[in-house]
Amino acid sequence: MIFTELPPGKSVEGHPIPAFMTDVKADKYIYLIGGTHGDEVEGIHVLKELFAWLKHEHSLKDLPIVVVPILNVDGYRASTRVNAHMVDLNRNYPTKDWTPEASQKKYNPGPKALSEPENQFLVRLLDKFKPGFILSFHTWKPILNYNGDCQDVAEYLSTFNSYPIAGDIGYPTPGSFGSFVPENYQAGVLTFECPPLADDKNLKDIWLENEKGLKSFMQSDLLIKKI
Ligand SMILES: [Zn+2]
Repeated sequence: MIFTELPPGKSVEGHPIPAFMTDVKADKYIYLIGGTHGDEVEGIHVLKELFAWLKHEHSLKDLPIVVVPILNVDGYRASTRVNAHMVDLNRNYPTKDWTPEASQKKYNPGPKALSEPENQFLVRLLDKFKPGFILSFHTWKPILNYNGDCQDVAEYLSTFNSYPIAGDIGYPTPGSFGSFVPENYQAGVLTFECPPLADDKNLKDIWLENEKGLKSFMQSDLLIKKI
């Protein structure tokens, strides 16, 4: 598939936030997003490999896809979860449950909902190119956390990687992307939590355990149903 670069966003520190899309017009788009949390290199790597394959495998049927490889570019440079304002981008979306209170410092939601330029950029993209389904790559413990209409995708991917699936991760996440998108766009978000690096698990291993499932999904009828 051929991707062209969109006008980039701009981070708190003024760095560009690259975004790419295919030249396919559609009512709804598939989004692939990485690096909401800048220190989650495992999820960023899996998306990097998937994006490379999408770009170089010319036998693929063209699909309407938007890719934001690393949303929190400042956090990625600094190896931090938060952005350069020390805000957790995944607690900063204008959801019904957004709150200025943080249960822990690392979940700092910012001074107000959607205060952060990285999230403003992503929301501008979503408003312009409406999402049908979003796959957002993170790192925590391996889990396929579905919000909105995408339990079917979680179940499909789990047949390949055996990660547990969950509609609820067990604690509140006010202002999260997983709440924001279903509330505003009638699209599902699959928060794809990769396992962390370990002595017996490097970045390549984490890609390899997900390669088959993600490649299959990108060519599946399940994905076509979302656009
Ligand atoms: Zn994360």
